Amino acid sequence: MSPHSQTNTIDFDAAKLQRLGFSANRTPSLRPVSLGQLRQQLSLQLQTSLEVERILGLFFREVQRLVPLDALAYQHSASDVRLELGGRANHSAGYRLSHEGEYLGELIFRRNQRFDDDELGQLESLLASLLFPLRNALLYRAAVQSALRDPLTGTGNRIAMDQALQREIDLARRNLQPLSLLMVDIDHFKRINDSFGHSMGDEVLKAAANTLKSQLRNVDMVFRYGGEEFLILLSNTGREAAAMVGERLRHGIFNLQCLAQGSAIELSISLGCACLLPGESVESLLRRADSALYVAKREGRNRLTMAG
Ligand code: GH3
Ligand code: MG
Ligand code: MG
Repeated sequence: MSPHSQTNTIDFDAAKLQRLGFSANRTPSLRPVSLGQLRQQLSLQLQTSLEVERILGLFFREVQRLVPLDALAYQHSASDVRLELGGRANHSAGYRLSHEGEYLGELIFRRNQRFDDDELGQLESLLASLLFPLRNALLYRAAVQSALRDPLTGTGNRIAMDQALQREIDLARRNLQPLSLLMVDIDHFKRINDSFGHSMGDEVLKAAANTLKSQLRNVDMVFRYGGEEFLILLSNTGREAAAMVGERLRHGIFNLQCLAQGSAIELSISLGCACLLPGESVESLLRRADSALYVAKREGRNRLTMAG
């Protein structure tokens, strides 16, 4: 934040009381009628979306009918939301938003001209209209995320995978770009469960998934395909580049230091790689990657095989 920053905390319960007319020591607004109108309109408008980005965009636009702003920044790390609207400015007023102790993110108003007390009072009053819609949008976002993610490994689940596969195939066709697919299966995973127990198996699965994600540009393209199987989509990636990525992943897993009950677990993966053919269906692409994986297993594991 800039040296001119002002930081405050908005508690929703206080904000709600204020809306009901129990305001304590609030600076009287210079334009009470228009503030009231704006609050009314805001509370209706912000109900029209469940998207964090859209709600904040509307809020940024509407607030400026009363208080001119140059920029608005919002951040909620736990939800992985970070938003900057507008340009740069020297002065800022930051608010930590919360509702009944639940943290709802950090919001910063920015402007080249200093905010006066009346304006800060108005902004704080308007923030009350933002809290409920923002909280609902964060909840909705979390619900959507969890519906698309595998809870153990944090990779995409089958629903996300099916959506992404069709979307990426369509995109590759439209843009005349290559698309490659890696099917990954942990070698002899059953032995790990048998030797160290199922919960250690779970830990190994998580560690393997994290290694795969950490080696990839786009972590959103890793999916848990089955128990100890992962599928990786490589957009705009041809045969040679996909093979290189696959080899990098194989090394990454092989070099992973995994300890169970004091002894090192030897971990490796086998991979099947297929590149989208003209006119090919999702099913056919998956089948070819799966056949290539089967060959990698048969030929000794800890290797990558390209589909024919
Ligand atoms: P291969 O090299 O041929 O792939 O051998 P493998 O032992 O990895 O393959 P197999 O298909 O025989 O066994 C997979 C094992 O993965 C069996 C299953 O119990 C285990 N598994 C599947 N999902 C999970 C999970 O979520 N957690 C744990 N701990 N184990 C799982
Ligand atoms: Mg398997
Ligand atoms: Mg396996």
